[in-house]
Amino acid sequence: MQLTDLNPSRDIGSNCLLVELGPFRFIFDCGMHPKKAGLGSLPMLSKLADDSVDFILITHAHLDHIGGLTVAARYQRDCPILVSAPTQLLLPRMLRNSVGVMLRQRDELGLSELPLFTYGEVERVEDRLRPMSFGRPYVFEKNGDRLEITFFPAGHVAGAAGVRVVHKNERVFFTGDTLFADLLTLVGARYPEEDFDTVVTETTRGARGRPPGHTRKTETDRFIAAIAQTLDGGGSVLVPVFALGRLQEVLSLVREARRARQLPESLIFATGLGLDLVDYFDTLSQQHPSIRFRRRVLQDLNVQPLRQTLKPGREPGQRGLYILSSGMMVENTPSYVLAAGLLAQPHNAILFAGYCDPETPGGKLLATKPGEKFTFNALQYVAPMKARVERFDLSAHAEREELLAFVQARHPRNVVLTHGDPDARAWFAEALAKMPKAPRVIDPVPGEVCKV
Ligand SMILES: [Zn+2]
Ligand SMILES: [Zn+2]
Repeated sequence: MQLTDLNPSRDIGSNCLLVELGPFRFIFDCGMHPKKAGLGSLPMLSKLADDSVDFILITHAHLDHIGGLTVAARYQRDCPILVSAPTQLLLPRMLRNSVGVMLRQRDELGLSELPLFTYGEVERVEDRLRPMSFGRPYVFEKNGDRLEITFFPAGHVAGAAGVRVVHKNERVFFTGDTLFADLLTLVGARYPEEDFDTVVTETTRGARGRPPGHTRKTETDRFIAAIAQTLDGGGSVLVPVFALGRLQEVLSLVREARRARQLPESLIFATGLGLDLVDYFDTLSQQHPSIRFRRRVLQDLNVQPLRQTLKPGREPGQRGLYILSSGMMVENTPSYVLAAGLLAQPHNAILFAGYCDPETPGGKLLATKPGEKFTFNALQYVAPMKARVERFDLSAHAEREELLAFVQARHPRNVVLTHGDPDARAWFAEALAKMPKAPRVIDPVPGEVCKV
């Protein structure tokens, strides 16, 4: 097998691999870098000659895995795009949202190349999606040769897949983004328990283990208790969330806590793409028993759309629990603007339910100490940090020890590291080297062909 990592930087960015096995060539994911804009946010697609791949395979509908797909599909004109059935529904909605975001960025950032693709192109991509059932092998034939592809549920987010690829005697497993634990809204990964020659693994959480005594359950309890304390104290709570998966999971957690009388009654507000996706999750939950989020959660909690005009330095007119995108409090999103209204008052709280990149406003806020000033650059507003600001580890990625154990149990000769920052990859490389019968560890150099 030959692999070329087309993500220009070794990080969780524009994820994209070119995979070559015998006569077969395919693209594995095609993302857009969440911290970059314009052409610089795309994978190195110029490395691919036009119409040179047999298919494109997409593991799930997060933008760091699909954001570059429409551009890649423009030059790889007729090949099918393999997705799971839930991803077939979610992907076009996520890409259309991305066009809207890019149209806004064109003016905000003065980038004339935006949008990188159009609504019409997304429609054509939608026509090329080929749904793959979990657990059912799909065979490609070329020049008398066979390639077998099988999707397995990866947990992480609705529709996410780990992928088994078999060519002649060579067996490869790609984890994609993986969560083994069950969420309230989604069953965890169900991967094959067999040996592989090569495992290509994500390394997202490699840099940090969970502190002793901390579990998903204790973090969830702490999270709910922090919401309850703030509401009981007369403040408002902001929970910045990702629209796809996280908003629905947080709403489910809140409903469960309400039923267990761990949370007081309060107004609940949500907004944007995440609310739209509720309908998609409702449809998916009726078709796939592994996905569990119904629209009635909104009625049970009496969730209201955000209609207030938010202003920096001014608390919202109604106290309550605000579950708003974006998850990393990116500039000018509802969570960013509301944070500027809540931060200066000690009775409020801003509670992050997942990871924040240190360079995003959310990451910078988490690094700010109580009482220090925080600058909302995009609003030209500075506030002292008096509200409670805290992060809770409710990650949608497997813990590093779990992934390591999975890889180890597959007895691979080669392990390829992807989807992680350099320190995260380094932890995996070191841990793998200590294994009995240590595999060869490959941390691909972006853009360079590596033989596996
Ligand atoms: Zn993901
Ligand atoms: Zn990802």
